[in-house]
Amino acid sequence: MAEDGRAPLRYVWTVAGLVLASWVWFAVWRTFGVGPVAFGYVAVPLGGAVSVVALCRLWRAVRDDPHARRFCGVLLIGACFMTIGFLLMAVNAFRYSVGDDPPDMTIFAAVCVGLGFAAAMWAAARVPVDTAGRAERRRMNLDRTIAFLGCATPLWHFGLAPMITATERWSVQTLSLIGLAFLLSVAGMTKVAYLSDGPVDRTALRLVAAIGLTAAGVAVCATRYGDAGGPPSQALVLPLGPLLLVLAVRAQWNSAIGHRRVSRRSSHLLPYLAVAAVDLPLIAVVVGELRWPGRLTLGSAVVVSVLVIARQFLAFRDNAALLRDIRAHEERLQHEASHDGLTGLANRAMFRSTMHDALTRSDGVTVLLVDLDDFKTVNDSLGHDVGDHLLVSVAAMLREQAGEDGLPVRIGGDEFAVLLVGGTTVGETVAQRILDALTEPISEHRLLVQASIGIATAEAGASVDSVLREADVAMYAAKQRGKAAYVRYLPGMAQPVTAHMRLGGELRRALARQEFEVFYQPILDLGTNKIVGAEALVRWNHPDRGLVSPCEFIPAAERTGLIMELGRYVLREACRQEASWLAEFGSDAPGHVAVNVSARQLHDFDFVADVRDALRDTGLTPGHLVLELTESAVLRGSQVSRALHDLDGAGVRLALDDFGTGESSLSLLRTFPVAIVKLDKSFVDGLEFDEVDPACRDARQAVARAVIQLAGALRLETVAEGIENEAQARELRALGYSYGQGYHLAMPMSAASMTELLVAQRRAVATG
Ligand code: C2E
Ligand code: CA
Ligand code: CA
Repeated sequence: MAEDGRAPLRYVWTVAGLVLASWVWFAVWRTFGVGPVAFGYVAVPLGGAVSVVALCRLWRAVRDDPHARRFCGVLLIGACFMTIGFLLMAVNAFRYSVGDDPPDMTIFAAVCVGLGFAAAMWAAARVPVDTAGRAERRRMNLDRTIAFLGCATPLWHFGLAPMITATERWSVQTLSLIGLAFLLSVAGMTKVAYLSDGPVDRTALRLVAAIGLTAAGVAVCATRYGDAGGPPSQALVLPLGPLLLVLAVRAQWNSAIGHRRVSRRSSHLLPYLAVAAVDLPLIAVVVGELRWPGRLTLGSAVVVSVLVIARQFLAFRDNAALLRDIRAHEERLQHEASHDGLTGLANRAMFRSTMHDALTRSDGVTVLLVDLDDFKTVNDSLGHDVGDHLLVSVAAMLREQAGEDGLPVRIGGDEFAVLLVGGTTVGETVAQRILDALTEPISEHRLLVQASIGIATAEAGASVDSVLREADVAMYAAKQRGKAAYVRYLPGMAQPVTAHMRLGGELRRALARQEFEVFYQPILDLGTNKIVGAEALVRWNHPDRGLVSPCEFIPAAERTGLIMELGRYVLREACRQEASWLAEFGSDAPGHVAVNVSARQLHDFDFVADVRDALRDTGLTPGHLVLELTESAVLRGSQVSRALHDLDGAGVRLALDDFGTGESSLSLLRTFPVAIVKLDKSFVDGLEFDEVDPACRDARQAVARAVIQLAGALRLETVAEGIENEAQARELRALGYSYGQGYHLAMPMSAASMTELLVAQRRAVATG
């Protein structure tokens, strides 16, 4: 729309002024009989000229829309013809009128006006009506015929019929023009009822159709003032034609520049109105012309038709209410199918279809995959209700942070997404906003959650799956980078990530094929070098790669949840092995077996029961089992704390692994029933000497000393990890450590090798 938004109101005012002037002139002429009668003809061509100008402007303004453009164009041609015809009439009137008697319309003028009407009718007829299928078209044709006859009957009865049968002189031109206008009007009105809101405004079309009604006005004037379409109709009725035209221009203008109202179609009511309209002439006949027997017959026919209308109308109302219900129900179903029940966000299906539409429509999209870090922990430790509340709060946060361009989505579980279509917002900006929002605790439970976000952008034409895959890869990369971060997908990123993803699948297979083996690393008494315990360390006997270190697959197993099954296997196997060593070697067997437990296992509700089952099934007494936990695993949640106290109560000892590397190692010693601390290898490394930086050595020694003193005070056992040479062992001994573990003392080994070692040890003890 090139023009400014204002609808051309001045045309309406101009034509309205002309109408008023014409009416005033008529009143004066009628009362005082002054002035030539030809003045009555001036307003119509002038008004017509204004409407031509208005239509020209509208035509230019709607040139982008072919339907509206055609409608305006044809109407413009019609308005030109009518204006020329009326102008000729006015000129004719000025030249030939005698006293109060205007001359007849010339054939040429009548043809012009007739063409004008025909063009207007054509314009209205070409506006497309949308129908769904043959059945509806048939019904619509029936309805339109009913409506046509319904409109035509009263117009005929009150307008045309009296004119034709009148004794006064009517020119053929006037009569055919009125007939034509009448047809246009009826056809136009019935048509409007079937239009949905399209390129041509319904009000505009209605106004155009009403131009034809001026014909009925002319007829009424003629019967009332007793002339043959002279000054009264020329001055009073016909100027309304251009007024209706400029009003139509204004309506179309307003709707074309976006003030379109959504209006209901009135087609359903039309047949009833038509029947009611037909009753009007019937009543007139009943009242005016018939004797009483005939009146009774017609009267009862009218009453019956009114009752049928009422009956139909009630049924129609019921149907309408029913339809409304069905529609509401449908909308609800549609909403449910496209939205997530818990959070109310769009669901995966809607996410995909919106993205698909955008990509086929030539818009690019940016996808943010948002995955909550450790949501499962919240769910497992605090319960599903708390988890649900958290998800709802996250959804609310996403809704806020997604901004106007973004569609927030819940893909499933704790996975969310934000879809940015075409817009100007940069993915990184939104991602940062989300991470910022998550630095504050959310939900009524004041939980602190973090999220990893993967960002991928695709141009129009890309496939939905490829964008999602890229966003997924980026999200994985974000998780690998230590969570609470966003990563944008870059080409080449997929390979390591998919390798990682593949690892998950491989692990599952490996578990089924029993490719995992438990190795044992002896824990020795630093004073006597006797084996006092063994740490169970899992190994993966990969068919191609040989023995794979747990550092490579434990993280993947934790992420995929496979650690549960793997952990259960290691626990059972270690218990079974320890029980068997105890049976075989008695007091020469390792006093305990230490099993590593990851955070995810600890958060499992069944963990304590699993441990009890393993002990019962293997016949191992709880005192021979140690569970090694890391600080990060222990730190979270009351459920973990309960589990640890239960285990302690059952007689299982707990060891704090990698002691000293975390932030709250000390406070943990107070809150949890820890029996053993394992001094982390990093404090043992370089304990014996450090030529480069003696201060460093002193610091390590200080930690090692502090730990041993603390353990002494709390009556905890200590194990120094990662002893790689005799000097370190000596230093640790000097510091007061009684137990140690490390490559220097013994490598991790298979159960069979460990058995051999135990045999050798027993022999050594026996031989003194
Ligand atoms: P961790 O619990 O700290 O286990 C000690 C790791 O240090 C073992 O590595 C062991 O082989 C290694 N180590 C022992 N002595 C020395 C030494 O003198 N020098 C050096 N450089 N390293 C030494 P491994 O077996 O590769 O295990 C790595 C980690 O994998 C373990 O660290 C543990 O966190 C995890 N892990 C192993 N098995 C399991 C398991 O069954 N379940 C769970 N959840 N985690 C396990
Ligand atoms: Ca360990
Ligand atoms: Ca350790």
